Amino acid sequence: MHTSIQIAKIWGIPIRLHWTFVLVIGWLVYLGIPDWQYFRGQRAIWMFISVLAVFICILLHELGHAFMARRYGVQTLQIMLSPIGGQAILERMPKQPRKELFVALAGPIVNVILAVCALPFLYWVPAEKLAHLPQFFGNPNGNTFLRLDMDERFIIGFVLLNFLVALFNLIPAFPLDGGRILRALLSMRMNKLGATRIATFLGQGFAALIVLFSVSQYNWLMGVIGLFIFISASMEYRYVKLDSRLHSFSVQDILRPRFTRIYLDQNLSEIVQQWREGSEKNFLVFDRSEQLKGVLTSPVLMEHHPSEEEERVASLVISEYESVAKEDNLMKVIRLMQEEDYEILPVYEGEELLGVVDWNDVEHFVRLQKEQVR
Ligand SMILES: [Zn+2]
Repeated sequence: MHTSIQIAKIWGIPIRLHWTFVLVIGWLVYLGIPDWQYFRGQRAIWMFISVLAVFICILLHELGHAFMARRYGVQTLQIMLSPIGGQAILERMPKQPRKELFVALAGPIVNVILAVCALPFLYWVPAEKLAHLPQFFGNPNGNTFLRLDMDERFIIGFVLLNFLVALFNLIPAFPLDGGRILRALLSMRMNKLGATRIATFLGQGFAALIVLFSVSQYNWLMGVIGLFIFISASMEYRYVKLDSRLHSFSVQDILRPRFTRIYLDQNLSEIVQQWREGSEKNFLVFDRSEQLKGVLTSPVLMEHHPSEEEERVASLVISEYESVAKEDNLMKVIRLMQEEDYEILPVYEGEELLGVVDWNDVEHFVRLQKEQVR
């Protein structure tokens, strides 16, 4: 579970570092072992500053997404930084395509702003060196770049990095920002599932190209990025498909009409036995005039102490609950149960109690639907 560590908190958003950074540090140390001299003095300082700068640029990119999402009332659960890039995990995507578009654009825009702000510093680099740059990219093994001083290298690298990050992310392939932008633009003209299908297809095609290219170049890091894009694209498509599938159901598709009524004055030991042996794990609790008074759930029963078994149901009953209607959308109810941590909800039609929605049934139902969209 703990595959990352939290290094900071910005605007209440946990910033986490993926464990694979350890591999990168190990790799740098491995590279450095044959020639420690290489890492000494000014060069070490500039290397450190460069790594830090890359890190901060990626973090600012993700904060751009988070900032825009926040403007639309969407919280960011966490920002994960890994060696192959960052990821802002939002609690949900804004439903309106226009908002998704701006959330997706906000990241690359941050890098463009950073690059543009750094442009004036290029005046420090002598003009004839800048003129040699295209030559360097035409022949990276030529030593032109090495004749640049460390600070010159840093500033050129900073500008290029930010332009490249922005450009790379704008490639219209899921799950890159460009894929989201494309999907948002398509969603304005067609349904979201169809738009996702197109963006996913492009994402997978692009990922396949990267993998093929990386194999031909023996570039394993590029191969990993390609595979990552491929898998993420498929996952996003399945998620959207599942989401749209679940949206087509309502509470009555999952409603359980037969349920055991338990009463406030019943002995807990009786209920515990029923809970252990029966298939029902969450219960509605009534008083003797058949008025619904609350719920008794599996987590509460699991935590209870055996000495409490002489007590009555009333001592453990949870009186906060909400009721739902049978025509309520299933997705809405699932979200409600997740957010409020409800295990069971009574289902009404007008005044009449029709049955219950039990979280165990919900999980089973979602699992079945997942198998359908595989
Ligand atoms: Zn992004």
